Amino acid sequence: MPTSLPCPTIANTLRLPCRARALFCIASGDVSDARAWAKSTGLPLLALGEGSNVVLPPVLEAGVVRVTDKSMTILRDSPRDVSLRIGAGLAWHDLVSLTVKQGLYGLENLALIPGLVGAAPVQNIGAYGREFEEFVEGVHGVDLRTGRAQTLMADECEFSYRGSVFKTRLRDQFLITAVDITLSRVPSVNASYPALQERLSDQALTPEAVFDAVVSLRTERLPNPASTPNAGSFFKNPLVSQEILNTLKRSEPDMPIYPLDNNRSKLSAAWLIDRAGLRGQVLGTAAVSKRHALVLVTTGAALQSDVLALAERVQATVRQRFGVDLEPEPRIYV
Ligand code: FAD
Ligand code: NAP
Repeated sequence: MPTSLPCPTIANTLRLPCRARALFCIASGDVSDARAWAKSTGLPLLALGEGSNVVLPPVLEAGVVRVTDKSMTILRDSPRDVSLRIGAGLAWHDLVSLTVKQGLYGLENLALIPGLVGAAPVQNIGAYGREFEEFVEGVHGVDLRTGRAQTLMADECEFSYRGSVFKTRLRDQFLITAVDITLSRVPSVNASYPALQERLSDQALTPEAVFDAVVSLRTERLPNPASTPNAGSFFKNPLVSQEILNTLKRSEPDMPIYPLDNNRSKLSAAWLIDRAGLRGQVLGTAAVSKRHALVLVTTGAALQSDVLALAERVQATVRQRFGVDLEPEPRIYV
């Protein structure tokens, strides 16, 4: 049976008021109660974690399923590396800080990303030059249509830049209950991002130093959802063809460009929004953050319609000025 009735509130970091028809907090992979409820009401089941990458409506015509398992189990241990199984309900940042403290390395660039472990594979979370897919062996879950347990190996997850099969073919079908990851006992550091490099310039390059630098950089640069509601980057960085890039370079010679391969380059969505003069722009209860142009913030108790209207205004202005389409990163529920 649902853990709270009727119409539980669904927390989210944009602090949009939202009620679902039911909320199921699941400790294991047993989704039989949730499935029985879905069958009897004819409503869908939706997996959610902490709501840090979603734009929710006032009423979600669905039953929300949240995994609460916070377990950590050692699957394999060697002098070089360690494989762990992590319950989907553990907070991502807790996993990062626990592993770094125990001398298990790899996740330090991904410190302070909000949300739960179960959501990490969904958008293949990434920051400061590292992505979740570099560490994952397999993703365990349950098919919400059949109730059957299933494991996808890393190469079946179709990971891409801020994407995976859980955002496409298996969207709203596969409830992630645990992930298997491998971390290294041998310290190695990725400090390729200029901001990180600069922050670390006067100290030894250790994973612990990278962890501390990422925490301090993020604390300084990003609005904290606890005081300023937001869902992180609202748009993905656009990937553009060489042809579009050549045109843009003529009009915007100082634009940052990150080449991916011979044909495509990544642009900074934050830079485009800023250059289009949108930083600080307000629309009702939503605004483009003054601190970081890629983040849309709300006043709290905000309207989903204001957030979506502001997002559309940003997209239209950037398209008109640069001919580049910005794709929202958070999942928008209507
Ligand atoms: P939710 O927002 O609740 O859900 C997100 C999506 O995942 C939904 O589509 C949901 O259906 C699905 N989902 C959630 N749990 C499960 C599950 N158990 N099984 C199946 N599907 C599930 N993201 C980055 O990649 N890099 C960053 O650096 C980063 N920084 C951020 C900074 C801030 C301040 C904020 C607010 C967000 C940031 N994000 C970042 C986005 C967000 O934190 C991540 O995407 C995070 O993984 C979302 O976790 P969540 O538990 O809140 O998921
Ligand atoms: P930043 O360091 O100011 O860099 C701006 C943008 O340039 C970033 O979006 C980043 O792309 C790109 N970039 C910088 N150096 C790069 C390099 N050496 N190679 C390739 N791309 C490079 O970024 P920031 O806004 O302060 O964020 C820091 C990191 O945290 C970024 O990785 C960002 O993605 C991540 N972050 C993500 C979210 C989210 O919600 N998704 C929110 C906050 C921060 P990438 O974004 O592709 O890395």
